[in-house]
Amino acid sequence: MLLLEERINKDGIIGAGNVLKVDSFLNHQMDVSFLTKLAEEFYRLYKDCDVNKILTIEASGIGIACLTAQFFNVPMVFAKKSKSKNIAGDVYTSKVESFTHGTVHDIIVSKDFLKENDNVLIIDDFLAKGQALLGLTKLVKDAGANVVGCGIVIEKAFQDGGDLIRNQGIRVESLARIKSMSVEDGVEFC
Ligand code: 5GP
Repeated sequence: MLLLEERINKDGIIGAGNVLKVDSFLNHQMDVSFLTKLAEEFYRLYKDCDVNKILTIEASGIGIACLTAQFFNVPMVFAKKSKSKNIAGDVYTSKVESFTHGTVHDIIVSKDFLKENDNVLIIDDFLAKGQALLGLTKLVKDAGANVVGCGIVIEKAFQDGGDLIRNQGIRVESLARIKSMSVEDGVEFC
C-alpha cells in the first residue's frame, strides 16, 4: 500500500536489532484517520470471507484491530498476556515469545469469546518471526474455530515469520512488506 510505504519512509526510525519504530503513527501516538484507511484496506481484502470476529494480541494490535472491526461490524477480541502461573480451565492459552522484549508470555482468551463456529480474522501491527501469529492461530484452532486469514500492517519480509505462517496454508495479507532495512540505506519494500 503506497500510502503506508510513504509514511514509513517519512516517519519510520530504524532501531537496533531489526526493529522499526513507527511510534508517531502506530505504536505510541496513533494517527487514527490514517490507520482507518489501513483498516478499510483489510476490509476490502477480507470482506467476502464471512468474518464474524477479529482477534489480536495486546497491546499494540488493539488499535488497528478495533478500527478494522468497525468496518466488519463484528466484535474484536484481544488475547491477554497473562501473569498468573495457574491458568484456569476457562481460557484457551498458548505461549508467545516477544520479538521486541525477548520474553515468553502465556497468552489467554476466555472460552466465552472464541467459539467453534467463529470465522476469525487475525490482525496485528508487525510480522517478524511469526511467533505472535502462531500463538493466536493456536488459540483459534483450540477453540475449534476457523482462521480466515491474517492482516498485518508491516511485514518484515526479510525475517522468516511470513513463510512460517503461509506454509501452514494460512492466508497472510500485509499492507507493507519490507525487503530490507538499514540505517545507511533506509527501508526497501518488496
Ligand atoms: P513476531 O511474533 O512475528 O516475531 O513479532 C511480532 C510482534 O512483535 C508484533 O506484535 C509487534 O508488536 C512486535 N514487533 C516485531 N517486530 C517489530 C518491529 O520492527 N517494530 C515494532 N514496533 N514492533 C515489532
